[in-house]
Amino acid sequence: MTKVLIAEDNAVNRELLRELLEARGYTVTEACDGQEALRMIEEIHPDMLLLDIGMPVLDGFAVARKIRENPSLAALPILAITAYAMQGDRENVLNSGFDGYLSKPVNARALADELERLLGKRKDRTHLPIK
Ligand code: MN
Repeated sequence: MTKVLIAEDNAVNRELLRELLEARGYTVTEACDGQEALRMIEEIHPDMLLLDIGMPVLDGFAVARKIRENPSLAALPILAITAYAMQGDRENVLNSGFDGYLSKPVNARALADELERLLGKRKDRTHLPIK
């Protein structure tokens, strides 16, 4: 069972991501802002974090920074899900503690490929996604 935490403040986007992930066999938990995301990470120990950039309380950049400051979370893959699709932002995101980047609207195939790429890179291969 591969656990994915979705941190996204928009309910419609959260639901869409949940459907795409559950259709691929992932177990999904949701957080509505950055602070809730950090709390859920401690609680459920997800294998992967889908992190929206624009969120209230703590934005995605702040969440990624806090995760990377915590040695016990250093291996948690973080995939940015963002509307910041302007040129240059991709590099900015990838230099800010994120492992991958998808722009909205999220393409189902691209999401699946990124999850498999990031989960497959981990040392612990006992949690590969169920297809
Ligand atoms: Mn948002």
